[in-house]
Amino acid sequence: MTTKFIFVTGGVVSSLGKGIAAASLAAVLEARGLKVTMTKMDPYINVDPGTMSPFQHGEVFVTEDGAETDLDLGYYERFLRRSKMSKANNFTSGRIYQTVLAKERRGDYLGGTVQVIPHITDEIKHKIRASGEGYDIAIIEIGGTVGDIESLPFMEAVRQLQVELGRSNSLLMHLTLVPYIASAGESKTKPTQHSVKELRSIGLQPDVLICRSEQTISEENRQKIALFTNVETRGVILCEDAKSIYQIPRRFYEQDLDDLICERFGLTVPEADLSDWDLVVQDLFNAQGEVVVAMVGKYVELPDAYKSVNEALLHAGIHNKTKVRINYINAETLEHDNAAFDELKQADAILVPGGFGERGTLGKMKAIEYARTHNKPFLGICLGMQLAVIEFARNVLGLQANSTEFDRKTAHPIIGLITEWFDEKGELQIRSDDSDLGGTMRLGAQQAELVAGSKLAKIYGANNITERHRHRYEMNNRYIEPLEQAGMKISGYSAKQHLVEAIEIDHHPWFVAVQYHPEFTSSPRGGHPLFNSFIKAAMADS
Ligand code: GLN
Repeated sequence: MTTKFIFVTGGVVSSLGKGIAAASLAAVLEARGLKVTMTKMDPYINVDPGTMSPFQHGEVFVTEDGAETDLDLGYYERFLRRSKMSKANNFTSGRIYQTVLAKERRGDYLGGTVQVIPHITDEIKHKIRASGEGYDIAIIEIGGTVGDIESLPFMEAVRQLQVELGRSNSLLMHLTLVPYIASAGESKTKPTQHSVKELRSIGLQPDVLICRSEQTISEENRQKIALFTNVETRGVILCEDAKSIYQIPRRFYEQDLDDLICERFGLTVPEADLSDWDLVVQDLFNAQGEVVVAMVGKYVELPDAYKSVNEALLHAGIHNKTKVRINYINAETLEHDNAAFDELKQADAILVPGGFGERGTLGKMKAIEYARTHNKPFLGICLGMQLAVIEFARNVLGLQANSTEFDRKTAHPIIGLITEWFDEKGELQIRSDDSDLGGTMRLGAQQAELVAGSKLAKIYGANNITERHRHRYEMNNRYIEPLEQAGMKISGYSAKQHLVEAIEIDHHPWFVAVQYHPEFTSSPRGGHPLFNSFIKAAMADS
């Protein structure tokens, strides 16, 4: 079957939840037996979001194949079951320009003038088509808001592609805002009309409008929107604020959005079965009791910086049928502020997520020490594990230990960059110290072997697992022995290099920290064993 493309744009304002709407539609189409993939095109010039500040951009989502991508890809994976995202599913203007410029330098354009149209747009079209290969449906989300200068080449590429693909193979869905004006007591359709006008001025006519609103939109207004925007009435889909994003697939289904799409594409497929989504929503809303997780991080003012961790905790709540409230505690504040420390003490469990740089690490270690010495359930992720190891080395082993990320000349580099070499027998050796500046990032899905009998192996119910990584520093294996003797046990090693993947503390009800990022593989329907177990332990503590 030829791949059918659904393009998703946004209008009026940003932050309308384009990614969630696109992913929810994907979920309904997948529930009809279709093979769906999704791609995000970002108009900014950065080559990828890998080096962008979480304050500006939220979390960097890591795919199985090790791409550092936009957080929308996290939504895509959480809503889809049958497809995983890859490098092909997120690209920026910067990446497009980089490719085109490399071709220009190589002389591929034979001295011709290189222009936005056709060279940039051709490259965009090529990447869009490539991302859809092998799938029934490819949903392509265009970042930014219609009217932005930056997104114009993407819009133009979509216009051209729609002509090439034909109406039976492509469709445009536009998200817009229908604001409620309290003083007038009415919802207003004008911004939607204008945003569609803006789209039309660049040659794009939407086939579906997703109308985001705080209040219900009347049938009269729906008709009005259809009339003024040239979209058929059944293509005007209402989407008021929902209590949970996981209700959106059903909302779309109830308004027959999937039927409209299947008809347009000439697809004869079974009805959607959304019972698993209904169950998610049901368990979420019927949750009994509440547990409080203190999340001690650096970017706590912007919870999007920890999007996948937040979601994974929520999923674990669904799984345990309890509400999970996250209390974000600023790690730096914790260093000196007693009120913040009191809040930490009141939490049922403590989590230290991943991070880069020294700022806030003392506060994080203070939280870890508290969890360790007060039997509070503790989950450390990536930097969270590294700091758990440092805290233990300092306070239990009495070593002036540190990570070479924070002190290049530390007496005890218990966390450091990795240097690998093969010895004379051809065996891989690993030295972890601060003598090598050039350590590269460990990125993407890798296999780990869990230590038989460890708490972690019991939690996963498996000895081999695959989890995603995004870090440069590793635990220094020279310190394994003293740590283990003092009660901190290594519970997992990387399958290939024998690097420490996870630690736990023997005489503690639940103290687990992992070098990888389990949050990237948690989903609302499947949950994640590690988060499920963590929340269960928190419930026991509450
Ligand atoms: N900064 C640490 C490293 O690079 C941890 C990274 C992380 O938490 N993702 O190893």
